[in-house]
Amino acid sequence: MRKKIVAGNWKMNKNSEETAHLIAQLRTEIPQSDAEVIIAPTFVNLAEAATQLKGSFIEVAAQNMHFAENGAYTGEISADMLKSVGVRTVILGHSERRAYFGEDDALLAKKVDAALKAGMRIIFCFGEELDERKKGEHFKVVERQLKNALFHLDGPSWEHIVLAYEPVWAIGTGETASPEQAQEMHAFIRKTLSDGYNKQLAEEVPILYGGSVKPGNAGEIFSKADVDGGLIGGASLVAADFAAIVAAA
Ligand code: 13P
Repeated sequence: MRKKIVAGNWKMNKNSEETAHLIAQLRTEIPQSDAEVIIAPTFVNLAEAATQLKGSFIEVAAQNMHFAENGAYTGEISADMLKSVGVRTVILGHSERRAYFGEDDALLAKKVDAALKAGMRIIFCFGEELDERKKGEHFKVVERQLKNALFHLDGPSWEHIVLAYEPVWAIGTGETASPEQAQEMHAFIRKTLSDGYNKQLAEEVPILYGGSVKPGNAGEIFSKADVDGGLIGGASLVAADFAAIVAAA
């Protein structure tokens, strides 16, 4: 049985004071749950968030990292730096990183390798754009994204990978993939894993859905057989909403 995971990607939101405040709210408002709960505040607030949440049921993740261990990469953050402040999970491949910062599959493969080498867990994001879905290319696009960035890995490495399918047209738009569309793609992803590796590995990898998940639609999306929880943007910034989404998992 795969465990449900609900992760909040705060993106470029919440300063230091707001971060501490939202975390305090989440600690009281999130109900007892079997789901794993993760939040990803901004880099500058990670250390404080990790300290505040040490020993609690909420884990702290980073939204990105560089592939190098250290060196002349102005403005960048390494896996070792994340680990040194208590962060063991990193989001890679988010569509905003791909679209606004030019991150492509080849770069992401390097980041994946660096994170795994450092012993980190990865929440790997991917998903098609609207025109790709309209043209009926969504399966092909997703398969390519997965294969290019992840299929060089050996089987055991997949124990440290969480997949997050985020159709770009559903991110921050209020438009959600229907629970059926999410299930259809998640089943396809599992089949792709099964074909590339084996059935057991495909059954074990958690696959989250992301894109306008709200308290009102979370329950139905999470109830689908191959959906193992969600990666939440906007609704993770409101304690009551994120708590309700965890409750739905
Ligand atoms: P929204 O929930 O705001 O659509 O964002 C989803 C997302 O990008 C999570 O990484």
